[in-house]
Amino acid sequence: MIQRKTKIIATVGPATDSEEMLGKLLTAGANVFRLNMSHATHDWTRDVVGRIRKQKAALGKSAATLVDLQGPSIRTGDLDEKLELAKGGVCEFRNADLEPSEKLSTTTNYDGLSDDVKVGDVMLVDNGEIHFKVTRSEPGRLICDTLTKGTMGSRRHINLPGVRVNLPALTKKDICDIDLAAELNVDFVAISFVRDAEHIRNLRAQLEERDSRAKIVAKIEDQEAMRNLEEIITETDAVMVARGDLGIEVHIEELPVVQRTIVRECARIGRKVIVATHMLESMIENPTPTRAEVTDVANAVYEQADAVMVSGETSVGKYPIKCIEVLDRITKRIEQEPGAGFHKNIELKTEKQQTVKSAVVLANSLPDSKLLIFTARGVLANYTAHQRPENAHIYAFSPDEKVVQALNLNRSVAPHVMEFEETPEATIRKAIEFLMDRGEVEKGDPIVILSDVLSGDFDTEAILLRKA
Ligand code: PEP
Repeated sequence: MIQRKTKIIATVGPATDSEEMLGKLLTAGANVFRLNMSHATHDWTRDVVGRIRKQKAALGKSAATLVDLQGPSIRTGDLDEKLELAKGGVCEFRNADLEPSEKLSTTTNYDGLSDDVKVGDVMLVDNGEIHFKVTRSEPGRLICDTLTKGTMGSRRHINLPGVRVNLPALTKKDICDIDLAAELNVDFVAISFVRDAEHIRNLRAQLEERDSRAKIVAKIEDQEAMRNLEEIITETDAVMVARGDLGIEVHIEELPVVQRTIVRECARIGRKVIVATHMLESMIENPTPTRAEVTDVANAVYEQADAVMVSGETSVGKYPIKCIEVLDRITKRIEQEPGAGFHKNIELKTEKQQTVKSAVVLANSLPDSKLLIFTARGVLANYTAHQRPENAHIYAFSPDEKVVQALNLNRSVAPHVMEFEETPEATIRKAIEFLMDRGEVEKGDPIVILSDVLSGDFDTEAILLRKA
């Protein structure tokens, strides 16, 4: 049986929020379900999380849930009529309490805009579609030259490449959404437009206050996050290469370089990394991907990312299940080829990490071997996944369901809930039999066992070699 190493994150939306479709996404291979709070209401999120759990139980599958916070996104205000903008024309962006001083004028949701943006700065509106250059700044107003023609609707996203924005890391809406994430006991919370490590610490404190054990995903979306990349990666549990906003905030030809830099840094520091956005964009409308999309997914697999993510493809697209099937096929095929090997530069700081290295070296030297990890907090399983064993799949067992859920994001890890037995021997036997029953391990396969939680002789980190 070929086990897929790369995990798949599916964003849930109107196309997939029914029990039937969520079940189909699970069966097709989705490992993590993403709820995007830029669009989701609380009632909808509660219902969907309930349906996901029901389907998981019915199908006997494990999968994680991820709440993606909107973050400090700057948007234009509501307009009675769309603005028709001609190249070379004037457009005003003003605070909500001011009257327009130009014919073409919109409010924004951020009163500090005219303080942060300077004359000469470029503003990109509506996913980078319409470009403006600031020609005049007055308290609460920016007067701009329109660089590209376009039609501006209400609540369009504003990007400010290279500008340091003084917005709080978590908005009032984010705080309400964190309440919901804690209430629903989700596995991951993603923080948008993270700019430095303090933002991660702030979110962690918010989660701890609410007794939430959710892991943090830092979405790298702009140049400031890139400048503070090392401290952000060190502080977080996982990173998302959020290529939608990144592709606007950096020059587009820099995007592949930025992606590789982030993936390489995550491999060095030892954190999970997700490659996201536009992976199968054309499949929102079409049943097959473009050649370029196949190659883009293959590139993320070559870089040995932990996960690939789809957004509109599964939330509003016409072929959501086909998208997961396509990702499953591409990832499994490309995983047969040699990967980039960025993990070779991983920093191993603790004895536990060195022990894991020995187990991985042993597994790499034995054809058809499997790695069996007994883990209380998931730490040992994380360390093993970060060292990217060549062929051996990692089977992680823990009595703690929360630990098991979160391991759904790690490359190569198949996580299972299992109570440990009285003796280490009985626990090991039970795990091997479980895997043999499922056809994941065959008689005679070498099993490299790694544990720091079993009792008796296993009190400290131990490596054992057995045959199934
Ligand atoms: C992105 O920008 O790529 C992204 C994933 O963020 P969002 O979908 O929240 O804009």
